[in-house]
Amino acid sequence: MKLMDYHIHNRRCGHAVGEIEDYVKVAIEKNLKEIGISDHFPLGAILDDPQFKEIIKRASMEVKEFPYYIKDIKSLKEKYKNKIKVLISTEINFATPGRALTRQKKILEPFMDDYDYLLGAIHDIKWHESPVIILDPREGSEALKKYGIEKINLEYINKLIKLVETNFFDVIAHFDNNRILFRPDKPNYSPNIWQKLLDLLDKIKNKGMAIEINTSGTLKGIGSQFPDDKIVKEIIRRDIPLMLGSDAHRPENIGYMFEEFIEKAKKWGLSHLCAYEKREQRLVKI
Ligand SMILES: [Zn+2]
Ligand SMILES: [Zn+2]
Repeated sequence: MKLMDYHIHNRRCGHAVGEIEDYVKVAIEKNLKEIGISDHFPLGAILDDPQFKEIIKRASMEVKEFPYYIKDIKSLKEKYKNKIKVLISTEINFATPGRALTRQKKILEPFMDDYDYLLGAIHDIKWHESPVIILDPREGSEALKKYGIEKINLEYINKLIKLVETNFFDVIAHFDNNRILFRPDKPNYSPNIWQKLLDLLDKIKNKGMAIEINTSGTLKGIGSQFPDDKIVKEIIRRDIPLMLGSDAHRPENIGYMFEEFIEKAKKWGLSHLCAYEKREQRLVKI
């Protein structure tokens, strides 16, 4: 079976290694059918305060780089068209309030005809009385102590609901990224939070969005892919399309643990994976 990897970074973001072409070459070696380039969308679009300059540099490419990023993928798409399908995407950090999305859309706009799919992702949470809490284990233990598990999970899910309600993204990347804060343990969802999560899955199903199986979870020490098995089973039960992404920040991590995941999920009833082209979703039998 030839697979697709839809979540790939490159050295432009400041914390990955290798040119996009290096990733394309490894994907060909690994016999992938499609590779979706989805580097971090410029954080500078929503965070332009000079005090964050260094953080921004290590988080994503600069705003002025974005047109060149798209241009590079387009030329690789052409160069390797007989060997692999190269898709154009970007991982957009969803930030509330809505004004942030408006600013992001302005930069995305000139290339709207080029994207094959857009990934929406959450990397931090914040509510009115809290500071920005980055979903990172170092910051996490402090935040967990201060606000408690229930509040953190609730605010994460509330932000996911807002992301889905924008109707802007095709796929949700690393769906339960809140788990990073609990590493190496799993978050214990209260009945209230779990119900909210199930209601959100129903909403995602109705909107026709897809959810990413992000296999980097295992590399990040949380014990499995994002989302966790328990959520994956609920996704499969609802027939919500699943898309595979390694979140590779090194070329050798392309397709990481894909076969293992498929083997496991087939037992739970997974029969198709989802693919995209020009923002049209289709299902591919596995
Ligand atoms: Zn990254
Ligand atoms: Zn991400």
